[in-house]
Amino acid sequence: MSKNLTTRSEDYSAWYNELVVKADLAENSGVRGCMVIKPYGYAIWEKMQAELDKMFKETGHSNAYFPLFVPKSMFEAEEKNAEGFAKECAIVTHYRLKNDPDKPGKLMVDPNAKLEEELIVRPTSEAIIWSTYKGWVQSYRDLPLLINQWANVVRWEMRTRLFLRTAEFLWQEGHTAHATKAEAMEEAEKMMHVYADFAENFMAIPVVKGFKTETERFAGADETFCIEALMQDGKALQAGTSHFLGQNFAKAFDVKFTNQEGKQDYVWGTSWGVSTRLMGALVMTHSDDNGLVLPPNVAPIQVVIVPIFKTDEEFDKISEVANGLVAQFKKLNISVKFDNRTTQKPGFKFAEWELKGVPVRLAIGPKDLENGTFEVARRDTLTKEVKPADGIVSFIQDLLEQIQKDLFNKAVDYRAAHTTEVNSFEEFKDILENKTGFVSAHWDGTAETEEKIKDLTKATIRCIPLNRVEEAGVCVLTGAPSKGRVLFAKAY
Ligand code: AMP
Repeated sequence: MSKNLTTRSEDYSAWYNELVVKADLAENSGVRGCMVIKPYGYAIWEKMQAELDKMFKETGHSNAYFPLFVPKSMFEAEEKNAEGFAKECAIVTHYRLKNDPDKPGKLMVDPNAKLEEELIVRPTSEAIIWSTYKGWVQSYRDLPLLINQWANVVRWEMRTRLFLRTAEFLWQEGHTAHATKAEAMEEAEKMMHVYADFAENFMAIPVVKGFKTETERFAGADETFCIEALMQDGKALQAGTSHFLGQNFAKAFDVKFTNQEGKQDYVWGTSWGVSTRLMGALVMTHSDDNGLVLPPNVAPIQVVIVPIFKTDEEFDKISEVANGLVAQFKKLNISVKFDNRTTQKPGFKFAEWELKGVPVRLAIGPKDLENGTFEVARRDTLTKEVKPADGIVSFIQDLLEQIQKDLFNKAVDYRAAHTTEVNSFEEFKDILENKTGFVSAHWDGTAETEEKIKDLTKATIRCIPLNRVEEAGVCVLTGAPSKGRVLFAKAY
């Protein structure tokens, strides 16, 4: 197993790209900007999906599925949304190919098979879903509609990177409809909290909850709530968004209902999504120069058992003990692999599972059998200790919980060390150039200043933190009055 990863300090970006491929998470495909998610990467995504799906259902949502294609006229109905996504749409114009008479063996688009109306490959599904909701909602009794869809979407991104930004990506998109503004707003905010809970307690990724400025808001939304994470290179990553759509889509698709007073009103909406980008966040938050570091909750294999033996007899004895342990781990729902390959040496196996981020490794050799011990290694700290065989399973069960907590706390400490309050533009630039991370600063609230700061420093306003304290101050760039600090950072 050759690791030879570029280190994070040498070139963070190269480290990430190499790690995603070498740890078998994903690879680039023959299709521009689109990736192949490999079984090991997909197993992590499935664990994330299962947990999110459970959380959505616990908060009253049901899954449904809507078409991949959106007719152009339907797509155009909500003008701001259409305009916002127009530059990154893939469009289907024809439905048939035919043999090219001038080039034997080649195909060409059949000009007689032009679609009457072009189809947009969904970059997001508000249009198709709200056009459907029109038929589902007549009275307040039909509300709320709390629907989620697991799907792929296509956004024709120009600069792509595995997981973080791909032209096709997997996600879930929630689309809800409500009778009142307050209820829709509450839903949008609630889902931001659900995402934050998931990111922090399941993925061990600390996030800042907040809302976006008008410039950064989702096209077609009246408010965008978000969770923002900080990666180990000091760049921020938008990890999830939840939008309050007002009555914008209801008006565009004429979705009205009769309220309890017997009057007609437009329905209020929300939409919210997280994508395979979270896999990128996972890698960039926890991993190190030796490879992936996975929090136990998302690890497809939580414990690997590696036998160390010379003779068949030793192997048989160790296997018997290992198989016994496997059965005990399984009872506790701990996913375990006994790596009993005889084709690879222990050193190779150690390196492979280290690269793949398996949280705990248990090594068993003939000496251990004699002494009644095992060697337990932690992936996150790269430490090893010899433990008595007695009680090893419950020791490891506790250890997995500890690792999950330690990874979260480590990331919280990193973020704290890379969040700086600044009061002048000199300081602002200095931090972004030298220390990076989140910069908490006063801003005058205008889009012009936001744009200027972006031009000068490449930093954008990641969010207006939800829990920010009202504090009178002056804008770092213009000196105009400000009511509170916002978080800036260079972002992925
Ligand atoms: P949006 O619909 O733009 O609010 O995005 C929903 C979620 O998808 C957010 O968490 C985004 O960060 C994520 N996302 C947006 N574009 C991409 C992309 N090209 N690849 C992966 N994830 C994305």
